[in-house]
Amino acid sequence: MDVQIAVLRQSRGPWEFQRYPLPDPEPGAILVRISYANVCGSDLHIWRGETPVPEGGRALGHEMSGRVAALGAGVSTDSTGQPLREGDRIIYNYFFPCGRCPVCLRGMPECCPNKRRPGNGVPGRPPYFNAGFSEYYYLLPGHVCVKIPDEISDAVAAPINCALAQVIQALDSGGFRQGDSLVVQGAGGLGLNMIAAARDMGAGLIIAVDGIPGRLSLAREFGADHTIDIRECPTPADRVAAVRELTNGQGVTHAADVAGVKGVVAEGIQMLANGGTYLEIGSIVAGFAFPFDPDQACRRGLRLIGFLQYDTRVLPRALDFVRRSRATVPWDRIISHTFPLEGIQEAFEQAEWVGRNPAEAVITRAAVTP
Ligand SMILES: [Zn+2]
Ligand SMILES: [Zn+2]
Repeated sequence: MDVQIAVLRQSRGPWEFQRYPLPDPEPGAILVRISYANVCGSDLHIWRGETPVPEGGRALGHEMSGRVAALGAGVSTDSTGQPLREGDRIIYNYFFPCGRCPVCLRGMPECCPNKRRPGNGVPGRPPYFNAGFSEYYYLLPGHVCVKIPDEISDAVAAPINCALAQVIQALDSGGFRQGDSLVVQGAGGLGLNMIAAARDMGAGLIIAVDGIPGRLSLAREFGADHTIDIRECPTPADRVAAVRELTNGQGVTHAADVAGVKGVVAEGIQMLANGGTYLEIGSIVAGFAFPFDPDQACRRGLRLIGFLQYDTRVLPRALDFVRRSRATVPWDRIISHTFPLEGIQEAFEQAEWVGRNPAEAVITRAAVTP
């Protein structure tokens, strides 16, 4: 049977729907029927052309949930030991730390230099289904996966393997502790997940910065104590002053770039208290350089840590957090719009918020539901 995968041929589309034979899972592998594949901010960077689209096109999509379509020989449980059968719903990481390089051996698989599989996202290479905007996804032998409990819908599970796991990793690595304070720069998919996770980890104060009214009110629903509206505080100096005011002039213990917009990092560093930590997650395309005097880092005792992906041990913990907090956190509101696979061009056009009138841009996450 041939099934389809969407391939982006050039920036801003169009997409091509390519068909390939459905692979039989080899021993240890799992074939997944995709339920939800979200348009993540990093997909939008590629779609905009900020990362060039290669000659033969690129298959995209990595924030997803799915259903076991077929199990390779020898797979009978998920990574937590629960029995796994065809039809079970699962989440899984979309990258693959090698486990054998010096960085992995130091116990930092989230920083593994080999965690992007060669050929990932390259169209036409067996076993073909290596991206989320597709009907199927192929998990190679040894891949981590966790069964989704009955109480959690596919839509709620889909942001866990990218946005939520990513921000939990950042808070963990940044040494975020009970009573600490956090500025979340951007209340999109990453930002909302980070607010909820920080609250669960015992945050004393959470401040969200955004300019889109719908996102600011969602930020409060996800647990932010205060929001700073960019339309009311139009300059970086205004926003830094607002954070100082909310912290008795001290600044926050942690600030995070979850926006991926030029200028936010320099601004966020100004919001930190002495001894503060800056968590860099959002700026994933080149060209966002800014001047920084290292004297500031010495005198103020600052740290900056960057993240792209996470230790897969975070996955079951993230899923369990969503299950535990489902009565208080409106997880079902992260995805605001869904589109069929054939509607992927429209999904990206709708999800694009750069240059939009803030009052019209209400989308938090668009999802493709193949
Ligand atoms: Zn992502
Ligand atoms: Zn490695």
